[in-house]
Amino acid sequence: MCRTSIIGFPRIGKKRELKFATEKYFKQEISTKELQEVARKIRLENWEIQKKNNISFIPSNDFSFYDSMLDMAQTLNIIPKRYQVLELSKLDTYFAMARGYQGTNGDAKALRMKKWFNTNYHYLVPEFEPSTKVILNAKSILAKYNEAKDAGIKTKSVIIGPYTFLQLSEFKKCTLDEFVNPIIEAYSQLLEHFNQCNVNWVQFDEPFLIHDTDEAQLALFNKLYKKILLHKGSTNVLLQTYFGDVRDSYQHIINHHFDGIGLDFVEGKETLNLLKTYDFPKEKLLFAGVVNGKNIWRNRYQQTLETLHALPNVSDIIISTSCSLQHVPLTIKNETQLENEVLQQFAFAQEKLEELEELRIAYSDNNYSLVEENERCFQNRKLKANLSVQKEAEQLTEADFIRHPKASIRRTIQKDALKLPILPTTTIGSFPQTSDVRKTRQHYLRGEINEVEYQAYIHQNTAEIIQWQEKIGLDVLVHGEFERNDMVEFFGQTLDGFVFSQYGWVQSYGTRCVKPPIIFGDVERKNPITVELAKFAQSQTTKFVKGMLTGPVTILNWSFPREDISIKDSTIQLALAIQKEVLDLEKAGIHIIQIDEAALREKLPLRKEDWYSEYLDWVIPAFRLVHSKVQAKTQIHTHMCYSEFSDIIQSIDDMDADVISFEASRSDLSILDVLKENNFQTQVGPGVYDIHSPRVPSSEEIEEVIKSILQHLPIQQVWINPDCGLKTRSIPEAKDSLFNMIKARDNIIKR
Ligand code: GLN
Ligand code: ZN
Repeated sequence: MCRTSIIGFPRIGKKRELKFATEKYFKQEISTKELQEVARKIRLENWEIQKKNNISFIPSNDFSFYDSMLDMAQTLNIIPKRYQVLELSKLDTYFAMARGYQGTNGDAKALRMKKWFNTNYHYLVPEFEPSTKVILNAKSILAKYNEAKDAGIKTKSVIIGPYTFLQLSEFKKCTLDEFVNPIIEAYSQLLEHFNQCNVNWVQFDEPFLIHDTDEAQLALFNKLYKKILLHKGSTNVLLQTYFGDVRDSYQHIINHHFDGIGLDFVEGKETLNLLKTYDFPKEKLLFAGVVNGKNIWRNRYQQTLETLHALPNVSDIIISTSCSLQHVPLTIKNETQLENEVLQQFAFAQEKLEELEELRIAYSDNNYSLVEENERCFQNRKLKANLSVQKEAEQLTEADFIRHPKASIRRTIQKDALKLPILPTTTIGSFPQTSDVRKTRQHYLRGEINEVEYQAYIHQNTAEIIQWQEKIGLDVLVHGEFERNDMVEFFGQTLDGFVFSQYGWVQSYGTRCVKPPIIFGDVERKNPITVELAKFAQSQTTKFVKGMLTGPVTILNWSFPREDISIKDSTIQLALAIQKEVLDLEKAGIHIIQIDEAALREKLPLRKEDWYSEYLDWVIPAFRLVHSKVQAKTQIHTHMCYSEFSDIIQSIDDMDADVISFEASRSDLSILDVLKENNFQTQVGPGVYDIHSPRVPSSEEIEEVIKSILQHLPIQQVWINPDCGLKTRSIPEAKDSLFNMIKARDNIIKR
């Protein structure tokens, strides 16, 4: 008999109910009880939908108020002192760790937040300190199991496994080794609790295993599970991996007493080979992740069945998703604006449940009518083709990816042409998106004000912010991005080849959700997108105003990509589109153009050996294609969020931008050593203060930062700017901080 399973389900609700309730709770507009009630409803609805679709292994505890790593940290009492002393309720302690706390009980910075593997989801980094006492509190996990049970649904409890939990944690003034035994103890107790409650299946999520794994890590993994599994009693344990294959640990995994092993056949290139080479133990269940949990396209049954039939003699197959469905939107059922022909191609989370059930039937009954029907959808698939774009991409030659003259010569030319002062000041692009700006955009979208009125409003805001930047003495100005909702959606909406859902929200972190555009065909830029407003902004001042674009890699990484062509080919098309915009801006008299690559690193393969061949070798040229044809005197800037690029520093230099700005203030400026060591050539603007915090830095504080930057880098190479766009800040926060930034720069120069 063949069954089905999923790893996790979206938890934000149909129309982001959890987000809105949580935000109300933050503002103390609803009580804990009311918030809990919203959460309970979402969980029940999710279970019901899964039951309706005959899912055999329905997860519980995949729900979270903020993040599952944070849930596990609280379950294990990994709560740093700074939160304990606040003496808040359990839920408020949880939110304090997630978002920081500033109030009557004290002041505590939030835990660090990091990207969850190669997704746009972010997890909170548990923080161990010498005083940390690992103490299990399994109440909430068991409560969720019982909640489902009371509703007549037997679930598999889902938790982050000990190996991944430890590997992703931070150890402050202590080491991982010190906590291995307490962690073993806590997880062992947890298994005993499950046993006592007659929980039939527990899923241990261990995605960290898909990384390159060395001997010491394998030893840790083996030690943890050898001991913990002794306590499983009659509870079955599923080791669940995702986001890749487990080539380094497969032979170890199959030798442990797991009852089921979950493997990813979508992103795991080697998964099938591993099974063929080393076999799969007869006594274990194979949870085969064959339905893509990360993308929104329908599953092609014929291909999936081929994979399943290619499996070596496995006794019991559970058809599953490749990863949690939290990375796709909930359902296409509420979408009213997309044509049927388009919608038919998509499977969001709920539709993926239907796919699992159909695959199960097709596989176990050899039911070909389902397969044929599914195949028809692919035969009729007409993703918008654009032959001229395809041809343009085909005809590209090496030369198209190289800008002339080389950077060092451009630098002299630009110095003469732009005549910027030493330590030039600038910002990253956006100014505060006030509720007034958002409201006016809504009015416009709803047709309550017309195009002319809306443009006038945008122009007025732009003119005002230009004037203000001039007044406080910034050197290179920006137009403020008041016309943009989101840096990717804005371009997606104006480029040919994208479609948009109405409710396709995906959690990015906490209450923040994104609605990724869907690349539905060949991408082309038909008309200029930013040129008119850039020209207007430039006409308001004698200083330079930066043109502001989003780069091809970031547009791709924050969209749902096609599966019928490679992401490389899509990126090249995007690069050609943005290249046209760059050239039009240049023609319109814009001398400095910033091409943001905020998400450059996002799809960097998780295994180092694939970094270049599968990603950087075409990502970096794609960026160069965007600007390779501009004149020597046009200055190209780029911006990246996060400074995590020490290990790809050469590639960043190879983007061949003239100036790069990046986040540095939160990483203790350690990136500066790396720049120096690697003889980094590009001019740099290491953000001198953190825009993610409402705090206004003093000018003295910023001066110190600038001083330490100058200890590492020659003064001619340095720009002074905040570490990201100011969109999420209030007007006073943004203005006061920039004012102090300029004062700091001026003081440094005077000395
Ligand atoms: N130019 C964009 C802004 O200033 C960049 C945003 C980002 O890096 N995420 O908002
Ligand atoms: Zn940024």
